[in-house]
Amino acid sequence: MNKIIRMIKSFILPLKVTGSYAIKRPFTVMYPKEPAVVKDRWRGFHQLDYNKCIGCGLCGMTCPNKCIDYIFPDGVDPRDKKNQRLRRPAIDWGHCIFCGLCVEVCPTGALRFSMKYWGHKLNRLDLIMTPEEYTITEGKKGHYENILDKVRKLMQTHLLSMAAGGEWEEILRKLEDKWIQLYYDRLDGKLSLEEWDKKAREIEELALKIMEQVNLP
Ligand code: SF4
Ligand code: SF4
Repeated sequence: MNKIIRMIKSFILPLKVTGSYAIKRPFTVMYPKEPAVVKDRWRGFHQLDYNKCIGCGLCGMTCPNKCIDYIFPDGVDPRDKKNQRLRRPAIDWGHCIFCGLCVEVCPTGALRFSMKYWGHKLNRLDLIMTPEEYTITEGKKGHYENILDKVRKLMQTHLLSMAAGGEWEEILRKLEDKWIQLYYDRLDGKLSLEEWDKKAREIEELALKIMEQVNLP
């Protein structure tokens, strides 16, 4: 008899639970037909307040995936310690695991998560953000008409080689180092602006070709 009662209970109880959900509002959202609802603690794509950033470098130091590196304004010497405050973080969302450590450690609140949850890109270069591309600061926001101008910015970092990975990583790393050396030569007056521009462009074109190559299926 007890066995029969247990069997009936095990049949009715799940139906009771299922039934209660049948009259509740569904939790599912028909994304992308309708916008997804995100909670306050959502870790969306990062946003930077360019003017609040003090270039302390803590975000890059903390990142476990090494997907943050720094860009100095054009003509500024990165070797001079006094100029460190002028650098701003570039970030590779292709390598980011959205752990939140960089946001947590930022002393000024310049780096935050936005509520943005969409942002698919078709290639790895587009997933790397220069500071101007993800800042919320008016007057500092920028996008690139010419993709080589973006590559020029990123050559200061090691984000391209990291994003390329595999057999291309070392080749790109050497190009980045060579580019930096040329940049120093320009700052030290060993190269004229025209010479620098020509030589740097050659390297940037090569780097772009590699980035296009790594995107091939
Ligand atoms: S959220 Fe992304 S960029 Fe920030 S520390 Fe984590 S992995 Fe690095
Ligand atoms: S974003 Fe924050 S942690 Fe990163 S360099 Fe700027 S101030 Fe420092």
